[in-house]
Amino acid sequence: MKGFIDDANYFIGLLDEGTNLGNVIDNYVYEHSLTGKNAFFVGDLGKIVKKHSQWQNVVAQIKPFYTVKCNSTPAVLEILAALGTGFACSSKTEMALVQELGVSPENIIYISPCKQVSQIKYAAKVGVNIMTCDSEVELKKIARNHPNAKVLLHIATEDNIGGEESNMKFGTTLKNCRHVLECAKELDVQIIGVKFHISSACKESQVYVHALSDARCVFDMAREFGFTMNMLDIGGGFTGTEFQLEEVNHVISPLLDVYFPEGSGIKIISEPGSYYVSSAFTLAVNIIAKKVVKNDKFSSGVEKTGSDEPAFVYYMNDGVYGSFASKLSEDLNTIPEVHKKYKEDEPLFTSSLWGPSCDELDQIVENCLLPELNVGDWLIFDNMGADSFHEPSAFNDFQKPAIYYMMSLNDWYEMQDAGITSDTMMKNFFFVPSCIQLSQEDGFSTEA
Ligand SMILES: *Cc1c(COP(=O)(O)O)cnc(C)c1O
Repeated sequence: MKGFIDDANYFIGLLDEGTNLGNVIDNYVYEHSLTGKNAFFVGDLGKIVKKHSQWQNVVAQIKPFYTVKCNSTPAVLEILAALGTGFACSSKTEMALVQELGVSPENIIYISPCKQVSQIKYAAKVGVNIMTCDSEVELKKIARNHPNAKVLLHIATEDNIGGEESNMKFGTTLKNCRHVLECAKELDVQIIGVKFHISSACKESQVYVHALSDARCVFDMAREFGFTMNMLDIGGGFTGTEFQLEEVNHVISPLLDVYFPEGSGIKIISEPGSYYVSSAFTLAVNIIAKKVVKNDKFSSGVEKTGSDEPAFVYYMNDGVYGSFASKLSEDLNTIPEVHKKYKEDEPLFTSSLWGPSCDELDQIVENCLLPELNVGDWLIFDNMGADSFHEPSAFNDFQKPAIYYMMSLNDWYEMQDAGITSDTMMKNFFFVPSCIQLSQEDGFSTEA
């Protein structure tokens, strides 16, 4: 995925105390209703700052390397650079994006499991040395093209060995590790540690217990080969809730104390992606078409609301070939909020929501209950910050949604108090007076 290099110009609205995210969305819904009703994102950068303090409160001993592929929009990368996270990059483009922000190569790791030779060479040229590797084939490419490589041996976890939940079947088995270590010795490649990744779809924190004890085994095995390992990478898969982070910490911290104690000189790092960005972005989409169908078209899921009642099919101006791309691989059933005001006792109808492509894969919500909507109404999807930002696809006339960044003055002051600054971001701030609060009763969102 390409970063937004060409639209590196962005602005961040600083919100006065009387103004909140809802007001900002209302304002842009109003503006977009006048100008063609394109979908748009609102990104609250304050949320990213909060995620970082939460991380430091709960798992301070683990250094985060933000996974750039989740969201490489300029303001996100800039704020994370200002916060001092490291960066986990999957490609040359991502490495270049992060380096443009002045991040030093020691704070960048190269995590693609399948590396193109030219990109390994690029990493070597710019001094990005730490990279993950899970096989002899990868090791050979690294040996030939990156003399200073420091390799993290990527081991598989139960979560991804033949698991149906995960589509990331990378990582070598414990059995095969000895072979890979042998090859590394022969090829004179430096192995500095172990990495594993447990996807957020895995709800069993026990998987961490096995992964950590496997990692310890590999550390011991590596010692036999004369490698001194000093880094453990526990991957990503953090959803962003404080609860999940605490739960994982509860499982791993006693094990880290035993296997990788402080003072052992082993640095613990992680690759959080969604954790930082998911909740920070909200997507507003517009309904462009509508069909009424017989309710019995919907066989599963929602209870029948009554036999004679119609059901509705709505088409929105963004779908899986745009901002909802992650829907193709993940089974998240997020129900949007209806932007227009409706009465509490308004009847609800079985509804399904689709992207604009008329493709059968382009279903966003299979089944939910909504009041009757009209063409021109807006729907608001929360938690859209991860894996949503793509270059327009040729599939249809998909327009890349505009992104509006904001931050509350309070969050901004908190950042200042914590001593976090970014000159580039400073230049991009503009002040949003509290008078943008608009009434939603203007009827602007409905097209007859
Ligand atoms: C995508 C990815 C991550 C980030 O995953 P999250 O679940 O968003 O934290 C981390 N590591 C690797 C190798 C990835 O591909």
